[in-house]
Amino acid sequence: MSNCLFCKIINKETPADIVYENEKVIAFKDISPKAPIHILIVPKKHITSLKEVKIKDKELLGELFLVAKKIAWDKNLKGYKLIVNVGRKAGQIVDHLHIHLLSGKPSHHNKLWATPK
Ligand code: AMP
Ligand code: ZN
Repeated sequence: MSNCLFCKIINKETPADIVYENEKVIAFKDISPKAPIHILIVPKKHITSLKEVKIKDKELLGELFLVAKKIAWDKNLKGYKLIVNVGRKAGQIVDHLHIHLLSGKPSHHNKLWATPK
C-alpha cells in the first residue's frame, strides 16, 4: 500500500527505530510512547485491521504474538500488555494491523536503579 505509513517503514522509505525484523514481521519503537517500553509489532503484509483478517492469516497472527514474546524475553520484561486497537472508535489511527507492546522498564534496569536499602 503506497500511502500507508507502516508500509513505508517496512519498505524503509520512512525511518523507524527497528527493534526486530524477520521475513514476515517488523517491530519498531512507537514514536510517541505511552509507557517506558512501547513497541509496535507489525505484519509486513498490509492488512488494514483485525476486521480484515482472513482464515489464511492465522499463522501470521500467531507469528505476531511469538515476536511479542521474543522481544519481551530479550528485554527481560517481567510483565507487559499487548493491545490491538480495532477501528477509529477504539483509537486506531494507522490503518495497518499492529500490536502495541507496553511495559515498564526492563527488570535489570529496575535493579540497577533501585534505591539501596
Ligand atoms: P493506533 O492508534 O493503534 O493506530 O496506533 C498507531 C501508533 O503509531 C500510535 O501509538 C503512534 O504514536 C504510532 N506512530 C505514528 N507514527 C509513527 C512513526 N512514524 N513511527 C513509529 N510510530 C508511529
Ligand atoms: Zn500498510
